[in-house]
Amino acid sequence: MSLETIKLTVKFKLKTIPDGLDDFFQTYRGIVNFLITHAFENNITSFYRLKKETYKSLRKEYPELPSHYLYTACQMVTSIFKSFRKRKKKGKAKGKPVFKKEVIMLDDHLFKLDLEKGIIKLSTPNGRIQLEFCPAKYHERFKDWKVGQAWLVKTPKGVFLNVVFSKEVEVREPETFVGVDLNENNVTLSLLPSGEFVQIITHEREIRTGYYVKRRRIQRKLRTGRKRKELLEKYGERERNRLIDLYHKLANKIVEFAEKYGGIALEDLTEIRESIRYSAKMNGRLHRWSFRKLQSIIEYKAKLKGVRVVFVNPAFTSSLCPVCGGKLSPNGHRVLKCSNCGFEADRDVVGSWNISLRALKMWGVTVPPEGQPMKTGGWKVIRYNYFTSSKSSE
Ligand SMILES: [Zn+2]
Repeated sequence: MSLETIKLTVKFKLKTIPDGLDDFFQTYRGIVNFLITHAFENNITSFYRLKKETYKSLRKEYPELPSHYLYTACQMVTSIFKSFRKRKKKGKAKGKPVFKKEVIMLDDHLFKLDLEKGIIKLSTPNGRIQLEFCPAKYHERFKDWKVGQAWLVKTPKGVFLNVVFSKEVEVREPETFVGVDLNENNVTLSLLPSGEFVQIITHEREIRTGYYVKRRRIQRKLRTGRKRKELLEKYGERERNRLIDLYHKLANKIVEFAEKYGGIALEDLTEIRESIRYSAKMNGRLHRWSFRKLQSIIEYKAKLKGVRVVFVNPAFTSSLCPVCGGKLSPNGHRVLKCSNCGFEADRDVVGSWNISLRALKMWGVTVPPEGQPMKTGGWKVIRYNYFTSSKSSE
């Protein structure tokens, strides 16, 4: 057993936008940009130093502003400046960063959230105000979670409070790791001790193709203008929502399979640059966004069930033989064969199998050779088709 923290950001949409909030966004943005200039000119990446050197003058200029806003602005600026410096080193940024967003960062002194009553109490330069938010059913789930930082964000769709919730969960010692191989149209799980591989057909490709065709149609009909932009955005959002909905259902299924074994292994996507196979996978319409999104959903759902999640290096997971470590070569459509031991399997099976093996190795477990009668085909693939793509996306 060990404790792990889960963090999730939840959006709360404000029912009405209080008077003066627009001015407040502007004031805060002004403070942030003042701080960026100061950090930039003096090369400051330390929150404490930035606060120390600017607090007095800002306090004087904004006497009505609760002082914690100055702290959060310093916090935002140190992270903005740090990431700017990183990008600059890589030659990806120049000049001085400018903050243009309508975002105000809050800490726990600046707001109180009442989930039951559906209100947010917010400290402002005009005193404490009460804001009502649109209730949603899933908000209930966060009743016993800890409230952390938050951001007030103005978007064309209204003003939102994005709150980070955290929860400590007990994660148990895994018996083994279910390797999860994500692909554009299927997810393959290796349930090694049982000799079974589960392949869940996701139909993600069909969903994406459907929206792709739709977008092309709009682009052909409407060459320019606001209508075109609006329609493209509308369908873009629908596609994202549809995919997120699918990812939640998919993640539930994956965690259901993994619960028995206590562990899940996913590919570490921060290492994708080194993997040829991954960049090829990423190039198509399957974006990084999808992979990361689905992984993050699997990760927190797993932890909530006490299932351990580990990330493994994805390089060559589908080109090395899981039985002998030899090199695999294509042998027909999606089938790979080992030139060393003769092992042959579907590439998704190989992928999820290797992911499992890497997680076990990371965990310090050596896989006994007798655990591999599987070489001679002592394993099977079970396909599931839980989801359909037939649901109209209109
Ligand atoms: Zn082999």
